[in-house]
Amino acid sequence: MRLILLGPPGAGKGTQAQRLVEKHGIVQLSTGDMLRAAVKAGTEVGLKAKAVMDAGQLVSDDIVVGVVADRIDQADCQKGFILDGFPRTVPQAEALTRMLASKGMKLDAVIELKVDEDALVRRMETRVRETIAAGGQVRADDNPESFKKRLVEFREKTAPLSSYYAGTGELRTVDGMKPIDAVTKDIETILG
Ligand code: AMP
Repeated sequence: MRLILLGPPGAGKGTQAQRLVEKHGIVQLSTGDMLRAAVKAGTEVGLKAKAVMDAGQLVSDDIVVGVVADRIDQADCQKGFILDGFPRTVPQAEALTRMLASKGMKLDAVIELKVDEDALVRRMETRVRETIAAGGQVRADDNPESFKKRLVEFREKTAPLSSYYAGTGELRTVDGMKPIDAVTKDIETILG
């Protein structure tokens, strides 16, 4: 099973992906997580990506597509994967279609989590507050300024993906404002 979760930052893609992983034995591939790991490990990719990520901007397509292409060749991806946070732009979606085709693969579904953006900002502020209260560390891009930039990036570059995948007939939409369990149920209904 090969899936894409679409939706703005903070929409709950990561949470739903975790659940799909447990239920279906597939792997969650979050480009954000992979890039953060590369930054932490100080790899060449990480060094290139760090400043761009901290500013809440998008890392170049070549880097991201390359990271995903290498990752899905690994043995743990054989049962399938969920792409979380990728593709972020129509050119990335086109590159993904080509890259999968070159490996003899295609997507089973593209699921969009529809959410209210004002509510997202409030969710994000709560998450930061709770993380700090629990003694945890917040991500470098978890601040209102970067978050707003990420939302603008999303509106400009990622929102058109809905039309792209509607055009290919792969897009399915769920109401991401519902409680987490209800969203999970709606996704499972789509997956049959
Ligand atoms: P995320 O955890 O998905 O919000 O990603 C965090 C940051 O990683 C983003 O703000 C971007 O700088 C970078 N990133 C993650 N995925 C992509 C992608 N598909 N294309 C470009 N940059 C990405």
